[in-house]
Amino acid sequence: MKRYDVILVGSGSAASQAAATLRDAGKEVAIIENWTFGGTCPQRGCDPKKMLVEGAELLARTEHMQKLGVKGSLSLDWASFKERIDEYRFSIPTSKTQHWNEMNIDLYQGEPHFIDENMIAIDGHELYASQFLIATGQTPRPLDIPGGEHAITSDDVFDLDALPPSIHIVGAGYIAFEFAHIFRRFGSDVTLLIRSHALKAFDQNVVHRLLEESKRIGITVRHDVEPKRIDGNTLTLSDDSTLEGVVLNATGRIPSIERLHLDTVGVKSDRHGVLVNEYLQTSNPNIYAAGDVANSPNPALTPFAGQEGRLAALNMLHGNTRALPERPAPTVVFSTPPIAKVGLTVEEAEAEGIAFDVKETDMSHFLTYKRINDPTAYSKLLISTEGHVIGAHLIGQHAPELINLFSFIIQNNLSHQHVKHLEVAYPTVASDISYLV
Ligand SMILES: Cc1cc2nc3c(=O)[nH]c(=O)nc-3n(C[C@H](O)[C@H](O)[C@H](O)COP(=O)(O)OP(=O)(O)OC[C@H]3O[C@@H](n4cnc5c(N)ncnc54)[C@H](O)[C@@H]3O)c2cc1C
Repeated sequence: MKRYDVILVGSGSAASQAAATLRDAGKEVAIIENWTFGGTCPQRGCDPKKMLVEGAELLARTEHMQKLGVKGSLSLDWASFKERIDEYRFSIPTSKTQHWNEMNIDLYQGEPHFIDENMIAIDGHELYASQFLIATGQTPRPLDIPGGEHAITSDDVFDLDALPPSIHIVGAGYIAFEFAHIFRRFGSDVTLLIRSHALKAFDQNVVHRLLEESKRIGITVRHDVEPKRIDGNTLTLSDDSTLEGVVLNATGRIPSIERLHLDTVGVKSDRHGVLVNEYLQTSNPNIYAAGDVANSPNPALTPFAGQEGRLAALNMLHGNTRALPERPAPTVVFSTPPIAKVGLTVEEAEAEGIAFDVKETDMSHFLTYKRINDPTAYSKLLISTEGHVIGAHLIGQHAPELINLFSFIIQNNLSHQHVKHLEVAYPTVASDISYLV
């Protein structure tokens, strides 16, 4: 029987960081993956999605610039984008496996399950390890209506050979909004079926502006009906009306733990994932969990998966010495326009009893946005009475980069006086910051 110091289950961002940290410390490591090696982000998540977003953004930008003298029209060819995306995503397993082979990490592909706290079985093999890291991420939540299995998920979007003429998206989270905007900009008729609040974790003023802009670009946003049944290409709604076309299930993601037999080893979980303490250790001291699969306070996003993988590995190596840091999480919805946030929302700040002022700014009057004709640019900052930015909420073409500056400001606890006098290049997006705080 093969013996290892640590076996990592899953091969995404969390496992990658953990593997590097453990090998640097000289540990014998194996990785088990039940799909292709490399994880969600580069193969069916952030990266291929962002390649589609680039097209959608270019179209949006061109539309705005037509009022400033740009002539001609632009169109996006799904098949060509898909070809480039395939080139990228299909190269990931090879580059990852090569990298791990060079690091002398053993790789296993198949369906694993725990036998006991030191043993895992995979397709007839039994592997021993002193410790395990569960880093299996999340998977789309099934759409719980008759015929729900006919809906595609975000995983399947990248396999579509042709742009669907009509697509009906069920969900109200970031994946629903991003794909609604991508498909609309590429030329599909898009319906967004929203059950309750859209983008609950975001500032609702910002979300309202995004909803208005979604409608303006031709996305049909419906709050009044729910999906009832899917028969082939027909979606029946709760009012018994029907829609023809592809249905995209974007109702959320659930932890990928179904077939691991976690109960055998006393690892507890709930619907948000594997339960972990602040050191990312599960209810079994030999077994840690990191990334999207772990029910930690971090959002299910790539940078946090990587950080957690590294932190879990350090705790496995040195005992529980490093607790999860409390850091503000910058988050972006890559719609057109994008929205972004970091730090607290008004509701969160109030719940924490923090005294603060709100500063709202319509940035569309700034030259930065006049020169690209972006009428959506808006900022809402929460500034504590002690003078520190505690939350930033943005919409507009530059929101994804601007939010990183606010993340830096919040992480370093810079006072708004300090921020007002930062030396930055002009005329840039950053040079507006002194007017926002
Ligand atoms: C459409 C989409 C867009 C996204 N966009 C962004 C974005 O813009 N920015 C951002 O930060 N994040 C984004 N994310 C989230 C990001 O992809 C995840 O946060 C990140 O990939 C999590 O890394 P991980 O290592 O925890 O899990 P994963 O990368 O999901 O890796 C888990 C691996 O475990 C494997 N696995 C699952 N079950 C088992 C099992 N039983 N046995 C063995 N292996 C198993 C999986 O096949 C997978 O390879 C997006 C996700 C999606 C789906």
